Amino acid sequence: MEGCNCIEQFEPQWPSDELLMKYQYISDFFIALAYFSIPLELIYFVKKSAVFPYRWVLVQFGAFIVLCGATHLINLWTFSVHSRTVVIVMTIAKVLTAAVSCATALMLVHIIPDLLSVKTRELFLKNKAAELDREMGLIRTQEETGRHVRMLTHEIRSTLDRHTILKTTLVELGRTLALEECALWMPTRTGLELQLSYTLHHQNPVGFTVPIQLPVINQVFNTNRAVKISPNCPVARLRQLAGRYMPGEVVAVRVPLLHLSNFQINDWPELSTRRYALMVLMLPSDSARQWHVHELELVEVVADQVAVALSHAAILEESMRARDLLMEQNVALDLARREAETAVHARNDFLAVMNHEMRTPMHAIIALSSLLQETELTPEQRLMVETILKSSNLLATLINDVLDLSRLEDGSFQLDIGTFNLHALFREVLNLIKPIASVKKLFISLSVAPDLPEYAVGDDKRLIQVILNVVGNAIKFSKEGSISISASVAKSESLRDPHAPDFFPVPSDNHFYMRVQVKDSGSGINPQDIRKLFTKFEQCQSPATRNSGSGLGLAICKRFVNLMKGYIWIESEGLGKGCTAVFIVKLGFAERSNELKLPFAPKLPANHRQTNFPGLKVLLVDDNGVSRSVTKGLLVHLGCDVLTVNSRDECLRVVSQEHRVVLMDISIPGVGGYEVAVRIHEKFANRHDRPLIVALTGNTDRTTKENCLRVGMDGVMVKPVSVDEMRRILSELLEHRVLLEAQ
Ligand code: ADP
Repeated sequence: MEGCNCIEQFEPQWPSDELLMKYQYISDFFIALAYFSIPLELIYFVKKSAVFPYRWVLVQFGAFIVLCGATHLINLWTFSVHSRTVVIVMTIAKVLTAAVSCATALMLVHIIPDLLSVKTRELFLKNKAAELDREMGLIRTQEETGRHVRMLTHEIRSTLDRHTILKTTLVELGRTLALEECALWMPTRTGLELQLSYTLHHQNPVGFTVPIQLPVINQVFNTNRAVKISPNCPVARLRQLAGRYMPGEVVAVRVPLLHLSNFQINDWPELSTRRYALMVLMLPSDSARQWHVHELELVEVVADQVAVALSHAAILEESMRARDLLMEQNVALDLARREAETAVHARNDFLAVMNHEMRTPMHAIIALSSLLQETELTPEQRLMVETILKSSNLLATLINDVLDLSRLEDGSFQLDIGTFNLHALFREVLNLIKPIASVKKLFISLSVAPDLPEYAVGDDKRLIQVILNVVGNAIKFSKEGSISISASVAKSESLRDPHAPDFFPVPSDNHFYMRVQVKDSGSGINPQDIRKLFTKFEQCQSPATRNSGSGLGLAICKRFVNLMKGYIWIESEGLGKGCTAVFIVKLGFAERSNELKLPFAPKLPANHRQTNFPGLKVLLVDDNGVSRSVTKGLLVHLGCDVLTVNSRDECLRVVSQEHRVVLMDISIPGVGGYEVAVRIHEKFANRHDRPLIVALTGNTDRTTKENCLRVGMDGVMVKPVSVDEMRRILSELLEHRVLLEAQ
């Protein structure tokens, strides 16, 4: 390049220019050095840059520089006298340099556009990268917004109290969007206005109302989008604008309120017509800030979230209210139930006491009149005594019925189940009613089907009570004619009777259903009265069938029969056409006939009725003077040798093995009657020496009887006791003892 004037330097004709030559010489040396070092650096660059596309250009360029360097180097020998060889070498170097430099120049012309396009692409890429950066920034902002919405939603939904929900919404929105004010307008009860209910800065904004029919409110309510509204409109006029130049932009959005068709929210208006609340959000005043699209979207999302949270809160509030109401009702019901229970208990206690207290005088009347009956009397006297006895018996039955009914009603009544002789039971019924029927000249027939098991398992006493009641009615309401009683095993086809549509018998191998029918030719019943007969204290209105009874008999029978898993009904074709009472009860097949219950087994021979007990030593314990002398009278009448004591302590002192029976009233105070029984057992180690212990009680409940038997008493007599009753019970007990002693 700079070697263009080198030929002139071969001519040393200007010795005065020696210094200039010297500088040239040194410069040439350094140029040559530099020319040689540059290619080395280019070689290093080409080696290291594996992707550089113009390697061969660089090589060419390197060669061009090296040749230039070589020219300058050779030039060093031309400053002094030099040989022709140096000139030739110099010439070759110059020619080569010229060739390579031209080639390089041409080459550069070709590759410069290429290089330029690379540059353009680089610029384009740079622009793209900047664009991407901006988009990334946007995405990041959106993510940030999303995070805010999520946080807000979480805050709103973390409570189910609507006041907290609304307050939290305003606070969180205010914080997230850096608002100056944020307010919620709720529809009023009348639905004609919106009332300012919550704001960010006013704790308790009362009294602010705006008419709901404002165009701006309609505009917001008609869309689910957030709407920019004027900062001067009534719903946005909430901040102090004095001294401010420019109020911040305001948007409003509707908040749907849940339509609860089945719920009536207490202090909320009817939701069917006014379904929106209004949320107003204000940007800070005097700032250039404007609402961004993504901020408006956020507001819309939040409004929806608030609506959902409010609906949940409303449902919860309503269900809590319903729960409270239910609890109140339950408490009231519980109170009513307890009151009813107390009333039932009080009634039952009263009945139990009355029952007990009435039995002692009844005992005296019945015992004494039965004693009187067995003395010599004029016909009129006998009639009077019989009437007294009949009336007393009626009274005793009434007391029993009322007590039974109260126990049946409160569910405390239990059947006394045992094995008994079914055929004997019907014979007993016949024996009992025959005398009364014969007085009325009624013909009585009993037909017990041969397929009816002789022994059955059930409550024989209650069964006999039902039969006696039904047969008793037949006798009572028949002036003449006949009464037929038939008992058979109910066939499965007759079990489903149209008269008993509610009765669903369940046949099984261990049980059978017994059907008893009592048919009379008496006064009959008006068919429309039949339904009422089983209601307590109900009687037919017809004069023929109205009687002195209590109207309790059939009501009790029905309950007993139901307890025996059966059904009872009455048929009559009308007044004067007789009547048929039918009942079905479920009884068990007896496994062993020797598990028989007293008193119907063993069956006592008829002559026992007249049996007296001459010289039978009886110790009678009773603190009630009247009751004591009455019972003593009965025993003395039966030939007993009676010793009376009025306390149990005295009883324990005097009781000896010569006493065959200790008859003890267990209602007297002092040492418990049960304890006396235990002590007597202890006193007489040998059971043959021990007297029979018999309780005399006015309590008819099952527990008293069970307790007596459990402590070792041999029998229980329930007051009132007539001569016959006393005779029967004593006979049974003594006979039973004889049987035991024989074993
Ligand atoms: P009461 O103790 O009054 O007899 P019941 O409950 O036994 O009570 O009977 C209720 C009513 O049913 C009777 O008062 C009577 O009017 C009517 N009644 C019951 N059985 C007969 C019958 N065999 N013939 C006519 N009427 C009857």
